[in-house]
Amino acid sequence: MSRTYLIAGNWKMNKTPREAAALAEAVKGMKKGPATRKMIAPSFVCIPAVADILKGSDVTLAAQNMASVESGAHTGETSVLMLKELGVESVILGHSERRHVYGETDAIINDKVKLALAHGLEVILCIGETLEEREAGRVEDVCFGQLEGGLSGVGSDDMKNIAIAYEPVWAIGTGKTATPADAQAVHQACRGKIAGLYSASVADSVVIQYGGSVKPGNAAELMAQNDIDGALVGGASLDADSFAGIVAFDG
Ligand code: PEP
Repeated sequence: MSRTYLIAGNWKMNKTPREAAALAEAVKGMKKGPATRKMIAPSFVCIPAVADILKGSDVTLAAQNMASVESGAHTGETSVLMLKELGVESVILGHSERRHVYGETDAIINDKVKLALAHGLEVILCIGETLEEREAGRVEDVCFGQLEGGLSGVGSDDMKNIAIAYEPVWAIGTGKTATPADAQAVHQACRGKIAGLYSASVADSVVIQYGGSVKPGNAAELMAQNDIDGALVGGASLDADSFAGIVAFDG
């Protein structure tokens, strides 16, 4: 198994372009282990400033979303072509806020996944259950459905450009983290599901990040689980010291 740890900061609708540039500069200097990759996802308007800072660095530039079509009459949307021209290499799709606040369905997310892959972007596909779904015993049912829906029509070859982020909705921005053992159980089940959809070797190489109130104090224990290959970090990625503590979880 040669999976690397992907530590990604999702800045959501935070930081002005000037503030984003300063934080990107700090992320560039953050120490990481040899098996760790750093990624940041600023808001669309901050991407040009951050791209300038990250040029030639070891930090991957990601977007937080993109439109499901390439161009046209879609007021307020941002296309894959625009992102590519700015140097974006990766895109977060299906984040729970996109699903639950903006009503994105698996079908819409799947269109975005296929479009991003067709343009050579790496995709972080977010999945995860709500508290209600967890309490109803539907964790696997929901996560497997989101995997099947989001990855529909994605071939084995394209799976090398996909990472999955398991983010239980009840743990996002709430300070509640799934226990490492609970998170591991879902990650292992999702890896098994991917083996069924593709093959054991695809499942073995796919990175599955955990997201939901990850902090410097809980990162190492989460990353120590067999099937947890990194973190998608919201709140704690907005502060340089706390993101540095997560990036250096193994330090
Ligand atoms: C997220 O929004 O992807 C996230 C995990 O947020 P937080 O770390 O703040 O829970």
